[in-house]
Amino acid sequence: MNIKLILFDVKESELVENLKNHVERVLGTEIMLSERRQLPACRRRGDQYLAEDFIFPVNKEAESGEDYKLGVVEVDLYSSGLNFVFGVASPFKKSAVVSLFRLKTHDKKLYFERAKKEATHEIGHLFGLEHCRDTRCVMHFSNSILDTDYKSPFPCVRCNKKLSYFLSSHR
Ligand SMILES: [Zn+2]
Ligand SMILES: [Zn+2]
Repeated sequence: MNIKLILFDVKESELVENLKNHVERVLGTEIMLSERRQLPACRRRGDQYLAEDFIFPVNKEAESGEDYKLGVVEVDLYSSGLNFVFGVASPFKKSAVVSLFRLKTHDKKLYFERAKKEATHEIGHLFGLEHCRDTRCVMHFSNSILDTDYKSPFPCVRCNKKLSYFLSSHR
């Protein structure tokens, strides 16, 4: 099993390094970084990109059916029925995408924290975690950036147990 981060036209190398270290810490395993990819052709609504259209190009980055992949983009994402999404995950395809667009702020530390949380959240979905009612848990659904700022970058005890179980049974 490999876990890959795929950067789609993302120039934030310091942020990506931070995010990668954090996800490695949560999962207790190393993850790989793919070179920058161009944005794939997606359906669009003005400047926004349809989040689900990233699942196929992200999935194509797999070297085997056992690879888990998270795409990172700087463009704004939307999904059907939603004005915007921070990210979307397809556990069946072991592929997810997260957007940095709505996480941006002049406070660099806060920006990095937000990115860590939303990336961990999407990866959590790939490893079988669902939304959690604990508002401090990284798997809590963020309706707005306020929810993201309130939650921690780590799974709660229950979600962490599920995650450990999943990881130990898929090694
Ligand atoms: Zn979610
Ligand atoms: Zn939880």
